[in-house]
Formats: sequence, structure tokens, C-alpha cells
Amino acid sequence: MGNQSDIENILNIISDGIPRLYTLELTLTNKCNLNCLSCIARRKNKEIAYIPQEELSDKQWIKVVEDAVRFNVKEIFIKGGGEALYRAKLIDTLLTKIKKNNISIGIITNGTLFNKNLIKHMVQIGFDDIYISLDGPNARINDYLRGKKGTFNRIVKNIKLFNFWKEKYYSDYPHIHFVPVLSKKNYYVFDKFVLLAKKFKVSSIQIQPIQKIDLSTTLGKELMLTTHHKMLFKKNIEKAIKIAEKNKINNNFNELISKKIYKDANFNDVTDKFVTKNKLPYFKSNFLKVPCFHPWTFMSIEIDGKIKKCNVDGSKINSYNIKNHNLMNVWYCKEYIEMRNQFLKGSLMNYCRHCCPATALYIKYIKERIKEQIYQNNLK
Ligand code: SF4
Ligand code: SF4
Repeated sequence: MGNQSDIENILNIISDGIPRLYTLELTLTNKCNLNCLSCIARRKNKEIAYIPQEELSDKQWIKVVEDAVRFNVKEIFIKGGGEALYRAKLIDTLLTKIKKNNISIGIITNGTLFNKNLIKHMVQIGFDDIYISLDGPNARINDYLRGKKGTFNRIVKNIKLFNFWKEKYYSDYPHIHFVPVLSKKNYYVFDKFVLLAKKFKVSSIQIQPIQKIDLSTTLGKELMLTTHHKMLFKKNIEKAIKIAEKNKINNNFNELISKKIYKDANFNDVTDKFVTKNKLPYFKSNFLKVPCFHPWTFMSIEIDGKIKKCNVDGSKINSYNIKNHNLMNVWYCKEYIEMRNQFLKGSLMNYCRHCCPATALYIKYIKERIKEQIYQNNLK
């Protein structure tokens, strides 16, 4: 997800100042079948509990998607505070509506709960991107980190089924991506990850560094890399880069090495480095100075219809719930406007300090592309 049209959307906002909701994120359920060691949802005193009666009904989610179509949203991203595929039947219904309206769709999943019919339908309809949180290139490492035996084999079985239907329908879609969380248990196997990706025709590997928030748990602390591990990780990733290049597997390895993000794998001011200090001070418009474009382009809806201002943090829009308001009401509500004004003054929210490194890098990437386009269009 994230492409030239994402950039064009921001260029349009720059030209007329009107916020355009580009990405809508839907969190369908907190229910999960795994018990991953790095999972904040499962580990932090079971803070993110599964309470079925709190979840939006199928009918309410369908209305959200119909609103999104009317509101010209460009991409919808499905995720869970748990495993989204617990609501596979709903996803099946939503994806027909979404693709029929030419909206791009992605899902982040642990990859274990697909069913045969859904896989076939996803291929038929041209579902865009599936991000599978696989933490090891074999059952031993992956299943230990994901907290359940059999996880690796189920993922592999499902990927094979996707490949079967993709061949049958002569389709490249959905693109499958691995999103492993870097930890003490897997820092030395990314070359093997690439080989696995090649074997199963996976499009990319996007390593996620562990964030500060995971340190709140004993197990989270145990997964942190020491300085020695980080050195060995660098060696392994250099090897992985060569294999990935040869086999045309996209990845974020170079970014992790060249920007030394891996050194921040135990968190620390990633946002300061890549968001705050990456402002665009030399452009005339205030908008170009904002540290992050999220308040103009992004909205996240929680399992109970509450609105999150950002996918990285849990801060909510207090006065609105999607159960009682449509997307347009929320998008132009006072709290969103205040947040945009704060960003226009160049200041971030408190939680931005803990911006996810992958998101921070993406913001940086988008800004660089926008700079190029603005120079090209002579808009300076
Ligand atoms: S699959 Fe996701 S939600 Fe479930 S335990 Fe693992 S990280 Fe947490
Ligand atoms: S946490 Fe990151 S993505 Fe979210 S608003 Fe702050 S800078 Fe933007």
C-alpha cells in the first residue's frame, strides 16, 4: 500500500488545503487464536480484552464501507487488535463492495485462519495486499515466538493455496508480504526468510523493529537485542540483501541498515530523527512544514466504533463514534481540526515520540517524493 496516488492526494491537499481521507483502517475484532511473545494486546495484563458485545455488527461495518465509497476513500486496511480473520464472513462481504468501487484493500493477519472459499474469492476479486506476521522462517522459531505450535505450517498451507488459485486465474494478486518482528530469537535468520519468500513467491519482507511499548512485559524485555546481537543482525541482513536482490524480493533491509534504525530496535526517538527533524522548512506553505500528514489523510476505526487519530497510538476522538456519525461528520469534527492546527504549527502529539519506525520511515519516504514532485512542478 502507499504509492503515487497517495502522493498525488497530498499534492492536491497542498494546492487547495482540503483534507482528503485517503486511508481508512478498520479494526474488526480483539479476538485472537495466538499468544505472540511480543504482543502488547495479549501480554499487558490482557489489557485489550475480547468483549464480543462491544464489537460493531456486520451491518455497522458495511455502512462504514458504504460511507467510505461515498467519501472517495482510496484504500482500506483491515486489521485486528486480535486476528481480523475471526470475522472472515464479514471480510468476504466487505471486500466485494470495496473492490467493486475500485478501492485498494489490504489486511494484516497472522495468516492462520483463512478458509478455502475466502482464499479463492480474494484471488478472483484481485485483493491487493496481505501482510502476514511471520516471525521465523521455520516452525521452530516462528511457533515459539507466536506462542502456538502448528502456526508456521498453517501459514505455509494457506500461502500454497493462494498460489494455486493465482496460477489458475493467471493473477499476481493478492501480493503477499512477510512482516516479521525483529527480536533476539530471529536476528540471524533473515537470509533464510528471503529463501522462504522466494520459494512461496512472496513479494516483500518488511521487518518491524520491536517498539518501546513491548518493553512493558517481561517477555518483551527478553526479546530485545543486545549490542552484540545487533552487530550479528547487521551481518546477516547484509547477506539477506544480496540474496533478495538476486531473487527480486522487495524489502526494507537497506533502510534498516543505512538509517541505523536497527540500532533503535529497542525504540528511542525514532520519530525525532525521521519525522520532526525532517520538516520541510524551506517551503512557503505552512502545510509543507507539518511533521506528519496523517491528520489530513488517515482515519482508524476501532472495534467499538471509536475513532483513533493515528494508527500508532490509542488516543481517541472523544466526542464521536461511528455508530452515531458518518465518516464526513468525524473527518471535519472539532478534534480533527484542532489536531491539524497543532500540526500546522509544527508540533506533534505527545505520542508521536513513539511513532512506529516503519510508519516514520514511510512518512519520510513520502516527504522526499513530494519534495521531488514540487521541485519538478516548480511549485516552490
Ligand atoms: S496474532 Fe497479533 S493480536 Fe494475536 S497474539 Fe499475535 S500479535 Fe497479538
Ligand atoms: S504517531 Fe507518527 S504517524 Fe501518528 S500522528 Fe504522530 S508522527 Fe504521525
